[in-house]
Amino acid sequence: MNSQQESINSKRKILEVRNVYRTYHHEDTNIVVLEDISLDIYEGEFTSLVGPSGCGKSTFLRMIVGLDRPTRGEILYRGEEVKGVNPKTALVFQNFALIPWLTVWQNVELGLEARGMKKEERERRVRYWIDKVGLDGYENAYPRELSGGMKQRVGFARALALEPELLCMDEPFSSLDPLTSQNLREELLRLWGNKELPTLSIIMVTHSIEEAIFMSDRVVAMSTHPGRIIGEIKVNLPRPRNPRDEEFQEIVDKVYSLIV
Ligand code: ADP
Ligand code: MG
Repeated sequence: MNSQQESINSKRKILEVRNVYRTYHHEDTNIVVLEDISLDIYEGEFTSLVGPSGCGKSTFLRMIVGLDRPTRGEILYRGEEVKGVNPKTALVFQNFALIPWLTVWQNVELGLEARGMKKEERERRVRYWIDKVGLDGYENAYPRELSGGMKQRVGFARALALEPELLCMDEPFSSLDPLTSQNLREELLRLWGNKELPTLSIIMVTHSIEEAIFMSDRVVAMSTHPGRIIGEIKVNLPRPRNPRDEEFQEIVDKVYSLIV
């Protein structure tokens, strides 16, 4: 077996989404938000989902982590149907979703307590991830005392402290200013590239095609009303990527031509 075959054979499927529909009931009508979504996620992959506002991206991520259920179809995690909150996943939210009356430390620790983890292990993880995301010294600060970028660092620390195999991120950079968001993107990619994350695969939802191409190995495009997958583009460019490069722009054009 050559090394290429080896790497294909060793790539294991982590998530399998099979013909998923999500319908909401509103004033006697059924609104189909997601229609016939199928997607496989493999170990080692960074996948982005791009699509316009309202196409069901957040709904889809919520189903993957087990906060919502499909109306039809199934979602399998390592072959097992996702029925409740999936402990192998963690979610980073667009608006940080921090608890205002808890400190940075307490916000990061909260999810670990909910999972019944022992105090010693909780403290080890909270300390480690607060440090890793650059929040050292801010342990006792409250969210209102932090800038947007620092708040999202707490969001990352909280998710990563759960040591998820599959990290899900819902537009994690879109409420930050351009410089802050670019710094955070690069830091996350550095941790991912150096294998410093406890995470095997990442799914990021975004409405920015450039951001998706900058970060991921694969861009899955969605259309709206109802939300459907309309195509997928692989991104084989070496990292760090430069959005001004011609090859980068060619991929941007390819994704746009899928969507339009
Ligand atoms: P996106 O994240 O792509 O902007 P969402 O997943 O948030 O899209 O929402 C997709 C559609 O589903 C929207 O039209 C929204 O109004 C609708 N929707 C989402 N959650 C609910 C809900 N709990 N009840 C009714 N409609 C919902
Ligand atoms: Mg959303």
